[in-house]
Amino acid sequence: MTTEKILKKAVSEHNLTFDEVVVLLKSEDDALFKAADKVREKFKGQEVHLRGLIEFTNICKSSCKYCGLRSENKKIERYRLKSDEIIALANHGAQMGYKTIVLQGGEDVFYKADLICEIIIGIKKNDLALTLSLGERSYEDYKLFREAGADRYLIRIETTDKALYSELHPNMSFENRLRCLKDLKSLGYETGSGCLVGLPNQTVEMLAKDILFFKENNFDMIGIGPFIPHPNTPLKDYTPWTDNFKMSLKVMAITRLLLPDINIPATTAMETLNPNGRIIALQSGANVVMPNITSTEYRPKYEIYPNKICLNDTSDKCRECITKKIESIGRTVSKGYGFRK
Ligand code: SAH
Repeated sequence: MTTEKILKKAVSEHNLTFDEVVVLLKSEDDALFKAADKVREKFKGQEVHLRGLIEFTNICKSSCKYCGLRSENKKIERYRLKSDEIIALANHGAQMGYKTIVLQGGEDVFYKADLICEIIIGIKKNDLALTLSLGERSYEDYKLFREAGADRYLIRIETTDKALYSELHPNMSFENRLRCLKDLKSLGYETGSGCLVGLPNQTVEMLAKDILFFKENNFDMIGIGPFIPHPNTPLKDYTPWTDNFKMSLKVMAITRLLLPDINIPATTAMETLNPNGRIIALQSGANVVMPNITSTEYRPKYEIYPNKICLNDTSDKCRECITKKIESIGRTVSKGYGFRK
């Protein structure tokens, strides 16, 4: 089938075969981005949802080979915010108009379930939705967080290729990652996943399987990010695909075609590779942006990859800047919570 026919099918049926997804990933036709933009407009409208991101700890017990927060990296200064500092940041976020706060961190065992619950309860005193992104936890922990008031949870599968997954994640298991996603769904969270694009030994075929995995599991949110090598990791010398920004954009756009009503962020990693990356993503299927509301003091220390954007900006500046950009393309900032349905 030609690209044109595949796109026509995707726009009307929101279903594609593995071979068809591969054709789209290999095609250089920008019609893919236009089609994803149309589907986004039809199912999600012109509103962009902003989620205020708090990076509350960069301490991590894991050793993901691509990530600057990995425990073996001794070259970063570690930090861990106290519960009242986290709640104060969330309160400020609510005052700025955020309707969702995202709490993200390394896999820091200091934050036991009862402490996280205390933070959840504090944040939820505001009128907002709360998303957690704390990595792998037990079913019991996820249940306690949900009961304390957490609404959503993000945990990327990173790659669905089992061999690549085990190569990149020492002492972790693909099965446990799947277990987390299954538990979260069964507990009634809006569940988000996603993948990295441009990893060593990753192929276009693997990315096609990632996309079909998102579709099969009908996730509520999908975040796609280009892999950006970090100098203090084992992958420091690896060079991803020449146009990894474009490849990430393709994966994101096809995800929009197959899951027309989900929430898809224009990711910060995309903006790191392209100065207009988030706006291009918003015009290629995305409908969410996650501005950072962490204090300027801590931002440079949450270095999952190098050259992260807005390191010296205040959270007020970030909100103002992204709002202007969103309005410049004829879209509006939503005043709602932005649940999937
Ligand atoms: N500990 C949490 C949050 C991880 S950080 C968890 O396990 O879910 C959030 C995301 O950053 C990760 O899921 C990963 O996809 C992305 N990330 C990590 N290192 C990266 C890199 N070098 N380049 C691009 N994205 C990266």
